[in-house]
Amino acid sequence: MSGRFGKLKTLIDGELVESASGQWLESVDPATEQVIGYVPLCDRADAERAIAAAQAAAPAWRDLGVAGRAAKLRELAARLLERSQELLDIEVADTGSTVGKMRGDVGHTIGSLEQYAGLGLEMKGETIPASVNHLHMTVRQPFGVVGRIVPFNHPLYFSLGGSAAPLMAGNTLVVKPPEQSPLSSAIMSEICRDVLPKGVMNVLNGVGAGIGDAIVRHPGVRRIAFIGSVPTGLAIQRAAAESAVKHLTLELGGKNPMIVFPDVDIDQAVTAAFQGMNFAWSGQSCGSTSRLLVHDSIYDDVVQRLAARIDAVKLGMPADPSSEMGPINSKAHYERVLRYIEYGKEDGATLMAGGVRPDGDDFARGYWVRPTLFGNVTPDMRIAKEEIFGPVLSALRWSNIDEALRIANGTEYGLTASIWTNDLKTALRTAQKVESGYIWVNGASSHHRGTPFGGLKNSGIGRDEGLEELLSYTEQKAIHIAL
Ligand code: NAP
Repeated sequence: MSGRFGKLKTLIDGELVESASGQWLESVDPATEQVIGYVPLCDRADAERAIAAAQAAAPAWRDLGVAGRAAKLRELAARLLERSQELLDIEVADTGSTVGKMRGDVGHTIGSLEQYAGLGLEMKGETIPASVNHLHMTVRQPFGVVGRIVPFNHPLYFSLGGSAAPLMAGNTLVVKPPEQSPLSSAIMSEICRDVLPKGVMNVLNGVGAGIGDAIVRHPGVRRIAFIGSVPTGLAIQRAAAESAVKHLTLELGGKNPMIVFPDVDIDQAVTAAFQGMNFAWSGQSCGSTSRLLVHDSIYDDVVQRLAARIDAVKLGMPADPSSEMGPINSKAHYERVLRYIEYGKEDGATLMAGGVRPDGDDFARGYWVRPTLFGNVTPDMRIAKEEIFGPVLSALRWSNIDEALRIANGTEYGLTASIWTNDLKTALRTAQKVESGYIWVNGASSHHRGTPFGGLKNSGIGRDEGLEELLSYTEQKAIHIAL
């Protein structure tokens, strides 16, 4: 066993360890199909140990208080900054996402730790004038152990950036990084071992249906935070309900509409449609606006110019700063994306750009496909209804706003939406009627830390990235003091 990064260890009960079984999980560079490293393949025995450690560490972590925990979060952020180049190298090689964008992920992880370190005093209670002969008050308390299960597109950010709120709220953690891109979790393990008290953070690498399920079902884990697909979210809800009454947040998939009105500047709309697809992550972003809904009067113009922009995308090695897009994250996911490209053709959409493997020696191996645009897509097609989570954009026509809204709201999802118009009333009316949790007017793709991110309908439960996220890791208690 070798690979560029070798055999890496994971963090359980304050120590960097191998798995109890001695088994390893290999990780592949999706640009070359080379094995680049290994992490311990954890199973239920490791889960038992990690959760027991997290339970044992919980009271002292809670009692460290807001200022003590904030200091630890800030120290984590400082250590991440020191090792940011190393983290970036491993994350880019392991995910296949481009270096420019992934640099942002390291920054967002630091930003999240700093943000929640500063919000501790907002975990306030209330006094309520419910009777004259009592003081009625509420306090907020942590759950104890939080289980966090995350997907492959932002491994570090979701594993550690997403742990900032539960840690600040006074919980301890058991984190399951993604199976396909687990390597950065080893550096995270080292940093957490050095900064946090023993048992506060535990990292269980492995396969979702095994170790993920073990975390969800464990009676010692009372709060679960899941980011991933709708089918897995549903499986987690079922598994959690079979074992106990648990608190869950689910940040799930999207098939997000960008609605373009006829009064827009066409060049701006084309740029927005391109940016909204997040090709630098190979479209693998839950918030990608993968359904482009363009008014009939400008449809042909927008789609033709967009096809030319997409055709010009420079594919290349993810670590090369000039690459605009890398490979798809894993073999299984690559095959899924190719399957949807075939569905688009079978269902009668017009392939306007991409849809093929790029030419050239660089792309002889690896999970490469050119960014893809389908035109003349209708709402009944599979590429219009189902999340592909890849670099495949479906362009649909509409001729009146009711039709646009019907198409926009006609899927099971409700994560993000983008509205392009220069008319304020049209923008606000549309924003009110679109069934999405995070809406850009004349924007796309960006996240604004401090504002609540999350989905309606099957796109999830709960809101991240703001104060709501911090409070969601606390439980309220009412105390009545007789006067
Ligand atoms: P996924 O297949 O649902 O996996 C997500 C995580 O769940 C992985 O760690 C996976 O483990 C684990 N898992 C799988 N089965 C499990 C089970 N039965 N019990 C417990 N854990 C289980 O999703 P993905 O393909 O990695 O990621 C893509 C999806 O995530 C897309 O739908 C995307 O839209 C969504 N996403 C949503 C957001 C958001 O904020 N709303 C953000 C990013 C991504 P393995 O790695 O072993 O499969």
